[in-house]
Amino acid sequence: LENATNREHLVISGLTDALTGMHNRRYLQKRLNEEIARSRRYNHPLSCLFIDADHFKRVNDLHGHGAGDLVLREISLRVWECLRASDVATRYGGEEFALLLPQTDSEEACKIAERIRLRIAENPITLEQGTALSITVSIGISELDRTHQHADPGKLLLSNADAALYDAKRLGRNRTVRLNRSDD
Ligand code: GH3
Ligand code: MG
Ligand code: MG
Repeated sequence: LENATNREHLVISGLTDALTGMHNRRYLQKRLNEEIARSRRYNHPLSCLFIDADHFKRVNDLHGHGAGDLVLREISLRVWECLRASDVATRYGGEEFALLLPQTDSEEACKIAERIRLRIAENPITLEQGTALSITVSIGISELDRTHQHADPGKLLLSNADAALYDAKRLGRNRTVRLNRSDD
């Protein structure tokens, strides 16, 4: 009952995404500052994952928008299945998901990212008419730098994950890329 009440509250307050049931970008922004504060207070690592479906426009173009929606819901389910209760999973934009992994360094985050990537790549998604679609995602990973004082560490964490995602796309997609610590 408490969960149902929480969920309802989140929908009403505009913090969840209707298609996937995941939290949305607004929720991520809210949680980001809290998680950074916690990470600094307890000196725990905090990692961020940006996940973007590869060539997703083709899915819509070839199979229709309904199929695209189904694929997005299935991707979000598989992401969920790879996470722990304390992780924060959000649909950040159209076919892009952003995750916060508390108490997780970028090495551990890479393992989780690979689990997510393979879970999607190795199991085709079946459309309503029975067509099996092979879908892949690219993933960018960053870790919060707790040593330097940055004016906006949350913004840096997200932009680093986005930059890593961009590299994953550029290097051929269906892969995970971690930003080097020295680049942070
Ligand atoms: P890349 O591998 O570079 O990411 O290519 P892409 O085709 O995935 O990227 P692009 O940004 O060109 O296209 C994203 C597509 O995602 C276009 C848009 O119509 C689709 N999309 C965004 N949100 C939704 C949605 O809620 N439902 C459906 N069906 N499609 C969506
Ligand atoms: Mg894409
Ligand atoms: Mg995209």
